[in-house]
Amino acid sequence: MREGVDARLKPLLRVADPAPVLVPAQLDFVRWIASESLSSVGSTFATLLPPPLLDSTATGPGSGSSARYDTRTEPPPGAPRVAPDQRPTLLVGTGREEQILERIKEAKGGALVIAADVEAAARWAQRLAKLDRVVRLDSGVDEGARAQAWRQLADGSARLATGTRSALLAPVVEPGMLVLLDEHEAAHKPPGPPRLHSREVVLERAAREGLTLLLTSATPSVEMWWQAGSGRADAVLAPPGPWPAVSLADTRGILRREPLTPPLARAIRETLAAGRRVFLAVSRLTSALACDECGTVVRCAQCMLALAYSRATATLACRLCGRTEPLPDTCPSCRGRRLSPFGWGVERVEHAVRRRFPDARIARYDPDALRGARGETQRRAAAAAQVVIGTRGALRLFGRAALGLAGFVSPDQLLRLPDFRAGERTLALLWAAAERVGAGGALVIQSQNPTHYAFEAAARQDLAAFYTPELRFRAELGYPPFRRLAIVTLRGGGAPETERLAERVCAALRASTALQVYPPGADRRSRVRRVVVKGPAELPRLVGAALREFRDPRPEGRGIIDVEVDPVEWPF
Ligand SMILES: [Zn+2]
Ligand SMILES: [Zn+2]
Repeated sequence: MREGVDARLKPLLRVADPAPVLVPAQLDFVRWIASESLSSVGSTFATLLPPPLLDSTATGPGSGSSARYDTRTEPPPGAPRVAPDQRPTLLVGTGREEQILERIKEAKGGALVIAADVEAAARWAQRLAKLDRVVRLDSGVDEGARAQAWRQLADGSARLATGTRSALLAPVVEPGMLVLLDEHEAAHKPPGPPRLHSREVVLERAAREGLTLLLTSATPSVEMWWQAGSGRADAVLAPPGPWPAVSLADTRGILRREPLTPPLARAIRETLAAGRRVFLAVSRLTSALACDECGTVVRCAQCMLALAYSRATATLACRLCGRTEPLPDTCPSCRGRRLSPFGWGVERVEHAVRRRFPDARIARYDPDALRGARGETQRRAAAAAQVVIGTRGALRLFGRAALGLAGFVSPDQLLRLPDFRAGERTLALLWAAAERVGAGGALVIQSQNPTHYAFEAAARQDLAAFYTPELRFRAELGYPPFRRLAIVTLRGGGAPETERLAERVCAALRASTALQVYPPGADRRSRVRRVVVKGPAELPRLVGAALREFRDPRPEGRGIIDVEVDPVEWPF
């Protein structure tokens, strides 16, 4: 901020907000978010501030319309207080949502409920409206209403609010409560600022302000499960509720002309005969190589991630350490010769289902089918279909217990993604589908790895059966929550410039001995190089310090350096 007389400075037109929107402790909190995510303070602020009050008559501090705000002399609620020693609570299992409502009802104070998307925020606004008046802070309402809502929370005339990430700093009436719904969702960290997962933001805010913090999830993030297991959070696991009969169909050695195994085809027929709905989950992704005989996935020997298959170059590459190798002729475990990047696409599955069940109402629900002019028709068809064939997003069509059958045609495609979160993602999808199957219904999983612990956990309705081995895997190989990761993306003017920039950036990062720097990996787009960095909890500070020299513009330093700390989606 500058003051004084300068031809380049323009005069202030009016005061937008008569009182400061954030108090100094909140400014400090925003600076913390920016430094943890290696983002600029300005971009972080821009996305976390309330919209300006669009009151055309508020022309200045002396005008009549703004006087109603001038009387406030106390700091807004939400101003930091001394934090008592209070651990967050993780609510898992059936009834978690009813528990949230119960606790908000009992608490009497303010509650800010953060959802992963606008639809969920709207649903929660309806639920909370049964307790008290609710204001919405998400983009489902217009800017004026959002600004007004923020104001009402600040002056205490409203105590309940729902919103998405943009509401993370909204005021909360004391004794305040923060709620983060579906804390495991990747949607809590979409691209763009603030570049920190909402979970990390609410954990820090609750600690700083002494707020009660509740997090919910059907399948918690491995990070949050670990926090609960190590005493940093309290986990409340509901006793198991109704669960479908889960069966695993082993597809090893089965010829791949038919996407439906006999157990899955039989289950579809029985479900349709009973007049109930069927969801067939498919994946669009086929990026790893697996053995048709024994189900083994070809993995990087060092990182244990599935190697990514490239048809164009006939190679396998590790997305983490960058090593590439030619396609093997035989399976590394059984010496079988049938290695293939096989996967069932949505279209092929739809074709097979129509042939088998010509009289059923069948519809696709996947990003390709929903695109363009036919999207809306497709959406309506899927909402009324007896059999929906779709990707993860299709689950939104079904409420709790709405299905008679959920069938996973080839979850191995998801499990084999070259991402250390592949197991966690697979479990989340299986669990979300199981919760949507009603009493007496079924879940059928077709897999070449039927003994994988993600499937076992779903079959036994036992989350620990997944997290215990998963945490062991993460600890052994140094993945979060035990180590932090960052992806440094480099773009130069041309390929040689990008190459030189990548070399210099790698050298600078390697100078920091606490960081593990992987060799730069090529992106599908040749102009981009990516460097993966692993390190301890203070990784943002270490990476920031190592890259400081690149912040000053210099002729030879031309290029764009982007750092994504704690990536949730592997962007390859
Ligand atoms: Zn590797
Ligand atoms: Zn094999």
